[in-house]
Amino acid sequence: MGSAIGGCQCGALRYRIRADPLAVTACHCSDCQTQSGSAFSMSMVVGENDFKWTAGTPRIYHTNADSGATKECLFCAECGVRILNRLGSMPGTLNVKPGTLDDTSGVAPTLHVWLVNKQPWLVIPEGTRSFDRNPG
Ligand SMILES: [Zn+2]
Ligand SMILES: [Zn+2]
Repeated sequence: MGSAIGGCQCGALRYRIRADPLAVTACHCSDCQTQSGSAFSMSMVVGENDFKWTAGTPRIYHTNADSGATKECLFCAECGVRILNRLGSMPGTLNVKPGTLDDTSGVAPTLHVWLVNKQPWLVIPEGTRSFDRNPG
């Protein structure tokens, strides 16, 4: 991938990432189901220094992760699309939502977490790293 660009649904927010993600996570926790309005959410872990806003200023929603860590959620004030989360437990990194990339074709989860909340119809591919809750 190398370098990637993306943005929100209305185009007010645009960003550029200048390095490959460190990991791509699919999280099946109930919080992620609510946020995504779907069965799970995906996150690309990228270094904070490798991410740059190129248009717009995100709004920030403050909450807490299931672990209790602080969580800043950056989203578009116009169309509501979540671009990334910044977790207090993961300093120096951002969890960017890969569905907001212009080209999503190269993005596949390298691990699945919170399988305790996974929808029963969803089958995790054989050999994929997965955890009942958080890794470790
Ligand atoms: Zn927008
Ligand atoms: Zn989650």
